[in-house]
Amino acid sequence: MYKRSYITTPIFYPNARPHLGHAYTATIADILARYRRAVGDEVYFLTGVDENTEKVARAARAAGQETGAYLNTVVSSFKDLFSEKKLNISYDQFIRTSDEKVHWPGAQALWRKLVEAGDIYPSSYEGLYCVGHEAFVTEKNLVGGKCPDHNEAPQHLKETNYFFRLSKYTKEIKKRIECAELQIIPEERKNEIIALLERGLEDVSFSRPSDKVSVGIPVPDDSTQKMYVWCDALTNYISALGYGRDDELFRKFWPADLHIIGKDILRFHAGIWPGMLLSAGLPLPKKILVHGFITSGGKKMSKTLGNVIDPDTLIEEYGGEAVRYFLARHISPFEDGDITLTRFKETYNADLANGLGNLVARILQMSSQCFEHPVDLSEKRKPFSVSQYIEKFELNNALIAIWSDMSVLNDFIQENKPFDVIKTDKKKAQLQISYLVKELFRIAEILELFMPETSKKIKEAIQQNKKPENLFPRK
Ligand SMILES: [Zn+2]
Repeated sequence: MYKRSYITTPIFYPNARPHLGHAYTATIADILARYRRAVGDEVYFLTGVDENTEKVARAARAAGQETGAYLNTVVSSFKDLFSEKKLNISYDQFIRTSDEKVHWPGAQALWRKLVEAGDIYPSSYEGLYCVGHEAFVTEKNLVGGKCPDHNEAPQHLKETNYFFRLSKYTKEIKKRIECAELQIIPEERKNEIIALLERGLEDVSFSRPSDKVSVGIPVPDDSTQKMYVWCDALTNYISALGYGRDDELFRKFWPADLHIIGKDILRFHAGIWPGMLLSAGLPLPKKILVHGFITSGGKKMSKTLGNVIDPDTLIEEYGGEAVRYFLARHISPFEDGDITLTRFKETYNADLANGLGNLVARILQMSSQCFEHPVDLSEKRKPFSVSQYIEKFELNNALIAIWSDMSVLNDFIQENKPFDVIKTDKKKAQLQISYLVKELFRIAEILELFMPETSKKIKEAIQQNKKPENLFPRK
Protein backbone atom coordinates (compact mmCIF):
# COMPACT_ATOMS: atom_id res chain seq x y z
CA MET A 1 0.00 0.00 0.00
CA TYR A 2 1.24 3.45 -0.90
CA LYS A 3 2.34 5.33 2.15
CA ARG A 4 4.06 8.52 3.13
CA SER A 5 6.93 8.14 5.48
CA TYR A 6 8.80 10.79 7.44
CA ILE A 7 12.06 9.67 9.05
CA THR A 8 14.35 11.83 11.16
CA THR A 9 17.69 11.73 12.93
CA PRO A 10 18.16 14.07 15.88
CA ILE A 11 19.83 17.37 15.11
CA PHE A 12 23.46 16.89 16.08
CA TYR A 13 25.59 19.26 18.16
CA PRO A 14 28.09 20.89 15.84
CA ASN A 15 30.56 21.64 18.63
CA ALA A 16 33.16 19.34 17.09
CA ARG A 17 33.66 17.24 13.96
CA PRO A 18 31.22 14.33 13.65
CA HIS A 19 32.10 11.14 15.55
CA LEU A 20 31.17 7.51 15.09
CA GLY A 21 27.91 7.93 17.05
CA HIS A 22 26.70 10.47 14.48
CA ALA A 23 27.80 8.14 11.69
CA TYR A 24 25.81 5.35 13.32
CA THR A 25 22.54 7.26 13.76
CA ALA A 26 22.71 8.67 10.24
CA THR A 27 23.53 5.27 8.73
CA ILE A 28 20.68 3.34 10.34
CA ALA A 29 18.27 6.18 9.51
CA ASP A 30 19.47 6.06 5.92
CA ILE A 31 19.02 2.27 5.68
CA LEU A 32 15.47 2.58 6.97
CA ALA A 33 14.72 5.47 4.61
CA ARG A 34 16.08 3.49 1.65
CA TYR A 35 13.98 0.53 2.73
CA ARG A 36 10.77 2.56 2.83
CA ARG A 37 11.55 3.96 -0.62
CA ALA A 38 12.25 0.44 -1.91
CA VAL A 39 8.84 -0.79 -0.77
CA GLY A 40 7.24 2.12 -2.58
CA ASP A 41 6.66 4.75 0.09
CA GLU A 42 7.07 8.43 -0.53
CA VAL A 43 9.81 9.24 1.96
CA TYR A 44 11.02 12.45 3.52
CA PHE A 45 14.29 12.04 5.40
CA LEU A 46 15.53 14.82 7.68
CA THR A 47 18.83 15.36 9.43
CA GLY A 48 20.65 18.46 10.62
CA VAL A 49 22.38 20.32 13.41
CA ASP A 50 21.40 22.00 16.68
CA GLU A 51 23.26 25.28 16.49
CA ASN A 52 21.68 27.70 18.94
CA THR A 53 23.54 26.55 21.98
CA GLU A 54 26.08 27.97 24.37
CA LYS A 55 28.13 24.82 23.91
CA VAL A 56 28.63 25.68 20.27
CA ALA A 57 29.29 29.35 21.02
CA ARG A 58 31.93 28.27 23.54
CA ALA A 59 33.56 25.84 21.14
CA ALA A 60 33.80 28.67 18.60
CA ARG A 61 35.43 30.98 21.14
CA ALA A 62 37.87 28.22 22.09
CA ALA A 63 38.78 27.82 18.42
CA GLY A 64 39.27 31.59 18.17
CA GLN A 65 36.54 31.90 15.57
CA GLU A 66 33.37 33.86 15.14
CA THR A 67 30.38 31.56 15.83
CA GLY A 68 28.93 31.72 12.30
CA ALA A 69 32.25 30.89 10.62
CA TYR A 70 32.94 28.13 13.10
CA LEU A 71 29.51 26.60 12.48
CA ASN A 72 29.97 26.67 8.72
CA THR A 73 33.21 24.72 9.07
CA VAL A 74 31.72 22.07 11.35
CA VAL A 75 28.54 21.79 9.28
CA SER A 76 30.71 21.19 6.19
CA SER A 77 32.43 18.32 7.96
CA PHE A 78 29.04 16.74 8.74
CA LYS A 79 27.85 17.20 5.18
CA ASP A 80 31.13 15.79 3.91
CA LEU A 81 30.78 12.68 6.07
CA PHE A 82 27.19 12.23 4.87
CA SER A 83 28.10 12.80 1.20
CA GLU A 84 27.93 10.19 -1.55
CA LYS A 85 31.64 9.55 -1.54
CA LYS A 86 31.59 8.69 2.17
CA LEU A 87 28.51 7.43 4.09
CA ASN A 88 26.07 8.23 1.28
CA ILE A 89 23.24 9.43 3.53
CA SER A 90 20.22 10.05 1.30
CA TYR A 91 18.63 12.84 3.32
CA ASP A 92 16.11 15.20 1.76
CA GLN A 93 16.95 18.11 4.01
CA PHE A 94 19.80 19.09 6.29
CA ILE A 95 18.27 21.59 8.70
CA ARG A 96 20.33 24.20 10.53
CA THR A 97 18.57 25.74 13.51
CA SER A 98 20.49 28.98 12.97
CA ASP A 99 18.52 29.36 9.74
CA GLU A 100 16.20 32.27 10.44
CA LYS A 101 14.15 31.67 7.29
CA VAL A 102 13.67 27.90 7.49
CA HIS A 103 13.62 27.14 11.19
CA TRP A 104 12.74 30.20 13.25
CA PRO A 105 9.18 30.82 12.00
CA GLY A 106 8.20 27.26 12.97
CA ALA A 107 9.69 27.51 16.46
CA GLN A 108 7.94 30.83 17.02
CA ALA A 109 4.63 29.59 15.63
CA LEU A 110 4.72 26.58 17.95
CA TRP A 111 5.57 28.83 20.90
CA ARG A 112 2.48 30.93 20.16
CA LYS A 113 0.36 27.78 20.10
CA LEU A 114 1.61 26.83 23.55
CA VAL A 115 0.81 30.36 24.76
CA GLU A 116 -2.71 30.13 23.28
CA ALA A 117 -3.20 26.84 25.14
CA GLY A 118 -2.30 28.65 28.38
CA ASP A 119 0.74 26.45 28.88
CA ILE A 120 3.49 29.09 28.99
CA TYR A 121 3.92 31.12 32.17
CA PRO A 122 6.70 33.23 33.72
CA SER A 123 8.34 32.09 36.89
CA SER A 124 11.60 32.59 38.67
CA TYR A 125 14.16 29.89 38.57
CA GLU A 126 17.07 29.32 40.85
CA GLY A 127 19.58 26.54 40.48
CA LEU A 128 22.94 25.23 39.38
CA TYR A 129 23.53 25.43 35.68
CA CYS A 130 26.10 23.27 33.89
CA VAL A 131 27.13 24.82 30.59
CA GLY A 132 28.37 21.45 29.31
CA HIS A 133 24.97 19.91 29.97
CA GLU A 134 23.12 23.01 28.90
CA ALA A 135 20.84 22.19 31.74
CA PHE A 136 20.28 22.83 35.41
CA VAL A 137 21.89 20.10 37.49
CA THR A 138 21.25 19.10 41.08
CA GLU A 139 23.70 19.27 43.98
CA LYS A 140 23.56 15.52 44.52
CA ASN A 141 24.84 14.87 40.98
CA LEU A 142 28.04 16.84 41.58
CA VAL A 143 31.35 15.29 42.56
CA GLY A 144 33.61 17.59 44.56
CA GLY A 145 31.44 20.54 43.51
CA LYS A 146 31.94 19.73 39.84
CA CYS A 147 29.76 18.12 37.19
CA PRO A 148 31.35 14.68 36.74
CA ASP A 149 30.46 14.56 33.04
CA HIS A 150 32.04 17.89 32.20
CA ASN A 151 34.55 18.31 34.99
CA GLU A 152 33.54 21.88 35.72
CA ALA A 153 31.71 23.67 38.49
CA PRO A 154 28.16 24.69 37.57
CA GLN A 155 27.12 28.34 37.72
CA HIS A 156 24.61 29.48 40.32
CA LEU A 157 21.76 31.10 38.46
CA LYS A 158 18.66 32.96 39.55
CA GLU A 159 16.54 34.30 36.77
CA THR A 160 13.04 34.81 35.47
CA ASN A 161 12.10 32.41 32.70
CA TYR A 162 9.07 31.23 30.89
CA PHE A 163 7.99 27.74 31.86
CA PHE A 164 6.06 25.16 29.89
CA ARG A 165 3.28 23.37 31.76
CA LEU A 166 4.56 19.89 30.95
CA SER A 167 3.14 18.41 34.17
CA LYS A 168 -0.36 18.85 32.73
CA TYR A 169 0.38 16.30 29.97
CA THR A 170 2.01 13.52 31.99
CA LYS A 171 -1.10 11.31 32.04
CA GLU A 172 -1.95 11.82 28.40
CA ILE A 173 1.63 11.07 27.25
CA LYS A 174 1.67 7.91 29.37
CA LYS A 175 -1.64 6.80 27.90
CA ARG A 176 -0.46 7.35 24.32
CA ILE A 177 2.74 5.39 24.95
CA GLU A 178 0.97 2.55 26.74
CA CYS A 179 -1.58 2.08 23.99
CA ALA A 180 1.30 2.22 21.46
CA GLU A 181 -0.10 5.20 19.64
CA LEU A 182 3.41 6.46 20.30
CA GLN A 183 5.68 3.45 20.16
CA ILE A 184 8.98 3.51 22.00
CA ILE A 185 11.40 0.86 20.74
CA PRO A 186 12.92 -1.24 22.29
CA GLU A 187 10.72 -2.35 25.19
CA GLU A 188 13.42 -1.59 27.74
CA ARG A 189 13.39 2.10 26.77
CA LYS A 190 9.61 2.16 26.80
CA ASN A 191 9.64 0.84 30.36
CA GLU A 192 12.21 3.46 31.30
CA ILE A 193 10.03 6.31 30.08
CA ILE A 194 6.87 4.82 31.58
CA ALA A 195 8.62 4.68 34.97
CA LEU A 196 9.56 8.33 34.57
CA LEU A 197 6.00 9.26 33.66
CA GLU A 198 4.70 7.38 36.67
CA ARG A 199 6.81 9.64 38.89
CA GLY A 200 5.27 12.58 37.02
CA LEU A 201 6.82 15.19 34.76
CA GLU A 202 7.67 18.61 36.11
CA ASP A 203 7.14 21.87 34.27
CA VAL A 204 10.25 22.84 32.34
CA SER A 205 12.09 26.10 31.86
CA PHE A 206 11.47 27.15 28.29
CA SER A 207 13.43 30.38 27.95
CA ARG A 208 16.53 32.22 29.15
CA PRO A 209 17.10 35.95 29.58
CA SER A 210 18.37 37.36 26.26
CA ASP A 211 21.31 39.09 27.95
CA LYS A 212 22.59 35.80 29.39
CA VAL A 213 22.80 33.87 26.13
CA SER A 214 24.65 34.78 22.97
CA VAL A 215 22.55 32.73 20.55
CA GLY A 216 18.93 31.65 20.31
CA ILE A 217 15.53 32.31 18.84
CA PRO A 218 13.71 35.35 20.29
CA VAL A 219 10.57 34.56 22.27
CA PRO A 220 7.58 36.03 20.39
CA ASP A 221 6.40 39.34 21.91
CA ASP A 222 9.12 39.45 24.57
CA SER A 223 12.53 40.58 23.41
CA THR A 224 14.00 40.13 26.91
CA GLN A 225 13.87 36.34 26.49
CA LYS A 226 15.27 33.78 24.09
CA MET A 227 13.98 30.24 23.69
CA TYR A 228 15.72 27.59 25.69
CA VAL A 229 16.73 24.40 23.90
CA TRP A 230 13.38 22.56 23.93
CA CYS A 231 11.16 24.76 21.85
CA ASP A 232 14.14 25.63 19.67
CA ALA A 233 15.61 22.21 18.98
CA LEU A 234 12.70 19.76 19.10
CA THR A 235 10.66 21.98 16.82
CA ASN A 236 13.10 21.29 13.99
CA TYR A 237 11.06 18.19 13.14
CA ILE A 238 8.13 20.33 12.08
CA SER A 239 9.83 23.59 11.06
CA ALA A 240 11.78 21.57 8.47
CA LEU A 241 8.43 20.69 6.90
CA GLY A 242 7.43 24.33 6.77
CA TYR A 243 5.29 24.51 9.90
CA GLY A 244 4.63 28.18 10.61
CA ARG A 245 5.54 29.38 7.10
CA ASP A 246 4.58 27.20 4.11
CA ASP A 247 3.01 24.07 5.51
CA GLU A 248 2.47 21.98 2.35
CA LEU A 249 5.14 19.44 3.34
CA PHE A 250 3.94 19.55 6.93
CA ARG A 251 0.42 18.60 5.93
CA LYS A 252 1.82 15.87 3.72
CA PHE A 253 4.34 14.24 6.05
CA TRP A 254 3.44 15.00 9.67
CA PRO A 255 3.19 13.05 11.97
CA ALA A 256 6.66 11.52 11.71
CA ASP A 257 6.73 7.77 11.23
CA LEU A 258 10.05 7.46 12.94
CA HIS A 259 12.32 9.57 15.10
CA ILE A 260 15.68 7.83 15.53
CA ILE A 261 17.53 8.95 18.64
CA GLY A 262 20.26 7.93 21.07
CA LYS A 263 19.25 6.78 24.55
CA ASP A 264 20.62 9.96 26.16
CA ILE A 265 17.85 12.07 24.62
CA LEU A 266 14.95 9.70 25.23
CA ARG A 267 13.36 11.82 27.96
CA PHE A 268 13.23 14.87 25.73
CA HIS A 269 11.71 13.02 22.80
CA ALA A 270 9.26 10.86 24.73
CA GLY A 271 8.42 13.42 27.43
CA ILE A 272 8.83 17.07 26.49
CA TRP A 273 8.23 16.73 22.73
CA PRO A 274 4.89 14.87 22.96
CA GLY A 275 3.85 17.36 25.66
CA MET A 276 4.51 20.27 23.34
CA LEU A 277 2.64 18.61 20.47
CA LEU A 278 -0.35 17.80 22.67
CA SER A 279 -0.46 21.38 23.91
CA ALA A 280 -0.39 22.64 20.30
CA GLY A 281 -3.10 20.15 19.26
CA LEU A 282 -0.76 18.38 16.83
CA PRO A 283 -0.52 14.62 16.23
CA LEU A 284 2.31 12.72 17.94
CA PRO A 285 5.07 10.90 16.06
CA LYS A 286 4.30 7.21 15.56
CA LYS A 287 7.57 5.59 16.58
CA ILE A 288 10.75 6.48 18.38
CA LEU A 289 13.66 4.09 17.88
CA VAL A 290 16.17 4.50 20.70
CA HIS A 291 19.67 3.19 20.04
CA GLY A 292 22.56 2.71 22.45
CA PHE A 293 26.10 4.04 22.55
CA ILE A 294 29.15 2.79 20.72
CA THR A 295 32.08 1.85 22.90
CA SER A 296 35.60 0.93 21.89
CA GLY A 297 37.19 -2.04 23.59
CA GLY A 298 34.36 -1.99 26.13
CA LYS A 299 35.05 1.61 27.15
CA LYS A 300 33.50 4.94 26.28
CA MET A 301 35.58 6.56 23.54
CA SER A 302 37.67 9.40 24.91
CA LYS A 303 40.73 11.36 23.96
CA THR A 304 42.31 10.59 27.33
CA LEU A 305 41.95 6.84 26.82
CA GLY A 306 43.13 7.23 23.23
CA ASN A 307 40.48 4.81 21.99
CA VAL A 308 38.56 7.20 19.76
CA ILE A 309 37.76 5.74 16.35
CA ASP A 310 37.17 8.47 13.81
CA PRO A 311 34.66 7.57 11.06
CA ASP A 312 36.83 9.38 8.51
CA THR A 313 39.86 7.23 9.36
CA LEU A 314 37.83 4.06 8.81
CA ILE A 315 36.41 5.39 5.57
CA GLU A 316 39.85 6.30 4.27
CA GLU A 317 41.13 2.79 4.88
CA TYR A 318 38.09 0.67 4.06
CA GLY A 319 35.59 2.91 2.26
CA GLY A 320 32.22 4.25 3.35
CA GLU A 321 30.33 1.13 2.31
CA ALA A 322 32.35 -1.08 4.66
CA VAL A 323 31.66 1.33 7.52
CA ARG A 324 27.93 1.24 6.77
CA TYR A 325 28.10 -2.55 6.70
CA PHE A 326 29.92 -2.83 10.01
CA LEU A 327 27.57 -0.43 11.79
CA ALA A 328 24.43 -2.16 10.53
CA ARG A 329 25.71 -5.70 10.98
CA HIS A 330 27.67 -5.50 14.20
CA ILE A 331 26.07 -2.73 16.25
CA SER A 332 22.56 -3.59 17.44
CA PRO A 333 20.07 -0.72 17.19
CA PHE A 334 18.70 -1.65 20.61
CA GLU A 335 21.71 -1.75 22.90
CA ASP A 336 25.29 -0.53 23.25
CA GLY A 337 27.73 -1.89 20.71
CA ASP A 338 31.48 -2.19 20.58
CA ILE A 339 34.02 -1.53 17.88
CA THR A 340 37.78 -1.99 17.73
CA LEU A 341 40.09 -1.55 14.76
CA THR A 342 41.04 -5.24 14.94
CA ARG A 343 37.43 -6.37 14.90
CA PHE A 344 36.63 -4.01 12.05
CA LYS A 345 39.49 -5.39 9.95
CA GLU A 346 38.55 -9.02 10.69
CA THR A 347 34.96 -8.37 9.74
CA TYR A 348 35.98 -6.56 6.59
CA ASN A 349 38.18 -9.40 5.41
CA ALA A 350 35.81 -12.20 6.38
CA ASP A 351 32.44 -10.78 5.34
CA LEU A 352 33.32 -8.40 2.53
CA ALA A 353 36.65 -9.33 0.91
CA ASN A 354 36.38 -13.13 1.24
CA GLY A 355 32.60 -13.19 1.47
CA LEU A 356 30.69 -10.88 -0.81
CA GLY A 357 33.58 -9.70 -2.99
CA ASN A 358 34.75 -13.23 -3.68
CA LEU A 359 31.28 -14.56 -4.48
CA VAL A 360 30.59 -11.75 -6.95
CA ALA A 361 33.92 -12.33 -8.68
CA ARG A 362 33.33 -16.10 -8.93
CA ILE A 363 29.83 -15.87 -10.34
CA LEU A 364 30.62 -13.17 -12.85
CA GLN A 365 33.77 -14.93 -13.94
CA MET A 366 31.70 -18.00 -14.82
CA SER A 367 28.91 -15.97 -16.36
CA SER A 368 31.20 -14.04 -18.67
CA GLN A 369 32.78 -17.34 -19.78
CA CYS A 370 29.51 -19.09 -20.30
CA PHE A 371 27.28 -16.42 -21.85
CA GLU A 372 27.82 -14.04 -24.72
CA HIS A 373 25.00 -11.82 -23.49
CA PRO A 374 23.86 -10.77 -20.03
CA VAL A 375 21.44 -13.13 -18.26
CA ASP A 376 17.80 -12.20 -18.78
CA LEU A 377 16.54 -10.64 -15.55
CA SER A 378 13.05 -9.76 -16.76
CA GLU A 379 11.13 -12.45 -14.88
CA LYS A 380 9.35 -11.40 -11.72
CA ARG A 381 11.55 -11.70 -8.69
CA LYS A 382 10.63 -12.57 -5.13
CA PRO A 383 9.61 -9.58 -3.02
CA PHE A 384 11.94 -8.19 -0.41
CA SER A 385 13.05 -11.20 1.61
CA VAL A 386 14.35 -9.25 4.60
CA SER A 387 11.23 -7.14 5.30
CA GLN A 388 10.34 -9.23 8.34
CA TYR A 389 13.58 -8.08 9.99
CA ILE A 390 13.75 -4.52 8.79
CA GLU A 391 10.16 -3.78 9.82
CA LYS A 392 11.31 -4.66 13.35
CA PHE A 393 14.54 -2.65 12.94
CA GLU A 394 16.65 -5.81 13.18
CA LEU A 395 19.17 -4.64 10.63
CA ASN A 396 21.79 -7.09 11.89
CA ASN A 397 19.42 -10.02 11.34
CA ALA A 398 18.57 -8.75 7.86
CA LEU A 399 22.26 -8.86 6.99
CA ILE A 400 22.69 -12.28 8.56
CA ALA A 401 19.85 -13.49 6.32
CA ILE A 402 21.47 -11.99 3.22
CA TRP A 403 24.80 -13.59 4.09
CA SER A 404 23.11 -16.90 4.61
CA ASP A 405 21.56 -16.58 1.12
CA MET A 406 25.09 -15.97 -0.12
CA SER A 407 26.38 -19.12 1.51
CA VAL A 408 23.61 -21.08 -0.22
CA LEU A 409 25.09 -19.86 -3.50
CA ASN A 410 28.60 -20.77 -2.40
CA ASP A 411 27.41 -24.25 -1.48
CA PHE A 412 25.68 -24.57 -4.82
CA ILE A 413 28.92 -23.73 -6.62
CA GLN A 414 30.84 -26.15 -4.41
CA GLU A 415 28.43 -29.01 -5.06
CA ASN A 416 27.65 -28.51 -8.73
CA LYS A 417 30.99 -27.13 -9.94
CA PRO A 418 29.50 -25.27 -12.91
CA PHE A 419 33.04 -24.20 -13.84
CA ASP A 420 33.73 -27.88 -14.65
CA VAL A 421 30.30 -28.63 -16.08
CA ILE A 422 30.86 -25.91 -18.66
CA LYS A 423 33.58 -28.06 -20.29
CA THR A 424 31.28 -31.05 -20.83
CA ASP A 425 27.65 -29.86 -20.82
CA LYS A 426 27.26 -26.23 -21.76
CA LYS A 427 23.47 -26.25 -21.54
CA LYS A 428 23.48 -27.59 -18.01
CA ALA A 429 26.17 -25.11 -17.00
CA GLN A 430 24.11 -22.29 -18.45
CA LEU A 431 21.12 -23.27 -16.33
CA GLN A 432 23.23 -23.42 -13.19
CA ILE A 433 25.03 -20.17 -13.86
CA SER A 434 21.92 -18.23 -14.79
CA TYR A 435 20.37 -19.34 -11.50
CA LEU A 436 23.44 -18.00 -9.67
CA VAL A 437 23.40 -14.71 -11.57
CA LYS A 438 19.69 -14.14 -10.88
CA GLU A 439 20.14 -14.88 -7.21
CA LEU A 440 23.14 -12.57 -7.05
CA PHE A 441 21.10 -9.83 -8.70
CA ARG A 442 18.35 -10.29 -6.12
CA ILE A 443 20.91 -10.05 -3.32
CA ALA A 444 22.39 -6.92 -4.90
CA GLU A 445 18.95 -5.33 -4.90
CA ILE A 446 18.56 -5.89 -1.17
CA LEU A 447 22.09 -4.69 -0.57
CA GLU A 448 21.07 -1.31 -1.99
CA LEU A 449 19.79 -0.44 1.49
CA PHE A 450 23.05 -1.25 3.20
CA MET A 451 25.73 -0.65 0.58
CA PRO A 452 24.20 1.38 -2.25
CA GLU A 453 27.42 1.80 -4.26
CA THR A 454 28.36 -1.85 -4.02
CA SER A 455 24.83 -2.81 -5.02
CA LYS A 456 25.07 -0.57 -8.06
CA LYS A 457 28.43 -1.99 -9.09
CA ILE A 458 27.21 -5.59 -8.81
CA LYS A 459 24.04 -4.88 -10.78
CA GLU A 460 25.98 -3.07 -13.49
CA ALA A 461 28.46 -5.91 -13.75
CA ILE A 462 25.60 -8.39 -14.15
CA GLN A 463 23.86 -6.22 -16.72
CA GLN A 464 27.09 -5.91 -18.69
CA ASN A 465 28.04 -9.54 -18.06
CA LYS A 466 31.57 -8.74 -16.98
CA LYS A 467 33.66 -9.13 -13.87
CA PRO A 468 33.53 -5.97 -11.75
CA GLU A 469 36.59 -4.28 -10.29
CA ASN A 470 37.77 -5.85 -7.03
CA LEU A 471 34.97 -4.64 -4.74
CA PHE A 472 36.73 -5.23 -1.43
CA PRO A 473 40.51 -5.70 -1.68
CA ARG A 474 41.90 -7.74 1.23
CA LYS A 475 43.49 -5.67 3.99
ZN1 LIG B 1 27.62 18.81 33.00
